[in-house]
Formats: sequence, structure tokens, C-alpha cells
Amino acid sequence: MLLKLFIILFLAQNQVLAGESLSSSSSEEDGSSEHDDDEHDKSSSHEHRWGYHDQEAWRSAYHDCNGKSQSPIDIETSKAIYDRSLPPIQLEGYDLTGHPGLTLINNGHTLKLSLPNSMRIVKGFDEVYLAAQLHFHWGTIEVPGSEHTIDNVHFPAEIHVVHYNSKYANISEAASKPDGLAVLGGFIGIGLHENKNYERILSSLTDVSIEESNTQIPGFNIRHLLPNNLEKFYRYNGSLTTPPCFQTVNWTMFNDTITVSRKQLAALEDTLKAGQNQLLSKNFRAPQLLHGRRVLSSFSVLPSVEGANIDTFPGAETFPRVKTSGTFDTLSRGDILAIAFGALFAMTLLGFSLYAYQQRKKYSKFKKDSRQNVIYKPATKEEV
Ligand SMILES: [Zn+2]
Repeated sequence: MLLKLFIILFLAQNQVLAGESLSSSSSEEDGSSEHDDDEHDKSSSHEHRWGYHDQEAWRSAYHDCNGKSQSPIDIETSKAIYDRSLPPIQLEGYDLTGHPGLTLINNGHTLKLSLPNSMRIVKGFDEVYLAAQLHFHWGTIEVPGSEHTIDNVHFPAEIHVVHYNSKYANISEAASKPDGLAVLGGFIGIGLHENKNYERILSSLTDVSIEESNTQIPGFNIRHLLPNNLEKFYRYNGSLTTPPCFQTVNWTMFNDTITVSRKQLAALEDTLKAGQNQLLSKNFRAPQLLHGRRVLSSFSVLPSVEGANIDTFPGAETFPRVKTSGTFDTLSRGDILAIAFGALFAMTLLGFSLYAYQQRKKYSKFKKDSRQNVIYKPATKEEV
């Protein structure tokens, strides 16, 4: 009887385990219908062979993903080197108002908008760079999904506008060349108001919810998807943040953030599907090691006094700029006030304690005297 029960339990457990491995393998299967095709051509960077859930696997499957100039990175503001010779970026042809239609696609890894090469960066680099596409990286409501981080802090999302060097025929040719690509990146935060420019893309999300689906959206001014201030940026040499991770990207990350409403961000996080029925989210690569690379900044870090009055919340239009040295440099106005009040409170407490101590001493002296009297008196009385 006991043996029978044991056998039943054993079989039931096996079934559960089998079920689990089946479901996990089917989740691994996401996008695996392309696996067979890929096996024939391993060298080609097939978009569906990789996933964000196992980024370590990229290193073995794609040689460059193991390189020493990978992206994204954490931008440590105190270590960024101010380079006043960095030329400001000048854009041309970004206003696509009246353009008949831009293709918006869900490619299973991101939301991508194709761009005409009439859009270009005319100043800021040694060559003119032509736009090819823009796309986004995001997380979930709990997990902020920017790729780059500032002092180890993620932003809710990130936009990348990808350009290629005009000396090459197209982006595929440029992608593997050392001076091939220039990506303009912007951090996306949450603001109080709806961002009408982002809405031009986000309002079409439901049309591309299925992987590999696309739609046409009317042209608009793409410049408005980037921060107002393009003068403050970080610059470093890095790579594509997806396989094949070619180390051919001249990165520009703008200091000022773009804001969208909480609702808009939620739409980006919750609408798109990857594979059969999986949500397309958390499509960001973890920050990579610098391996001695230097991060330049186009602006100087502000002195700490100015630093105290730059917190422009609410809205988080800019992230707090952390200064180069000194304890107070990293403190916000709120922190300083808190410390001041804390110190004031501590001093008051100390003063009160001293007063109380003195009073107590006086009282206890008096008490001691009276007690002595009390003790003494009967004694004397007895003696008497
Ligand atoms: Zn990207």
C-alpha cells in the first residue's frame, strides 16, 4: 500500500518535471523557427537567433560581442573628460513633415522606424553621416530599460538614431567599418505631460503588435524626438548593442533627457509581442566594461554651488549633474537642508541635555544635602 502510494507520487512528480521542461523549452523556442535557416549560414547575423534573456551566449556566437569596445556602458560622470574641442552636432533634413510615409516595424527585438538618408549629421564628425533608422530600448514598469546608465542608474527607456558614414554606399557596408556608424542616443524619462512628438509613433503601436508586422506613419519632425539641448553630450567609441556587436559606433549620448508620460511609456512596455505570445520588453543589453576607454563630455562639470540649484524637478528634464570632487558635490539641495536641520536639531538636543544635566546636578546636590540632613538629624537626635 505504502509502496503503491510512493510509486504514484513518484510518477506525478515526474510528470510535473516533464511539464516544466517542456514549457521552458517552448519558451526557449521563441523565434526558433528560424534556427534551421541559421544553421546553414552561421556567419550571418540572423536577427532571431539571439535573445536578451541570455546575453552571455552572444559572446560565443558572435566574435565581436566579446571585444573590448562594447556598448552600452555606464557613464561615470565624475570620470568623463571635458573636451572643449568636441564640435557641436548639427543636423539637417530632420524635419520630415509632409513625407508620404515612414515604415514602423516590430522586428521582434525592437520598435524601429526607417529613416530616409536625406536626414543627416552635417557637423560634429569628420565626415557627414546619413540616417538609416531609429529604434528604442525599454524595460517594464518595475525595471527601467535604458541601455546606457549614468552613474549606474538606468532610465526608463532610450532612443537610438542610427547614422552611417556617407563615404559608404549603405548601412550594411558601413556597419563593419571602424568609422562606419554614428548613433545619437537619448535617455527617455517620465514627465507630467504627454509627449506629442512621441505620440506620432506610439499611437501606431497597436498596428505593429505582432512580430514582423509593419505600418506606415506620416512624416514629422524627427528632431523633436531628441532633447531640446544637443550641446551637452557624452562621446565614446563603442559597438552595436545587439549581435553582431560590431565595434564601429561613434556614440553620442545626450545629457538632457526626453520625457514622455507614464501612460505613453506603459504603452511602449505593454503592447508589442515577440514570437508567439511573449511580450517584447526588457530589450536592453547590460552595460559593458570600458577596458580603458575614455568617455568625453562636451560640457564641463559644474561647480558644486551651482550644482545645488539645478534640480529642475518635477519633470526631470535634466538629470542631476554630479560634480567631480568633494562630499557636498554629490548632494542635492534637499540633502543639504536635511543635514542643516539635522545639525541644528543635534545642537539643540546637546544644549538641552547640558541644561538638563546642570539642573539635575543642582537638584541632586540639594537632594543629597537634604538627605544628609535627614540622616544626620535622627543620628544627632539619637546621640542626644
Ligand atoms: Zn539600440
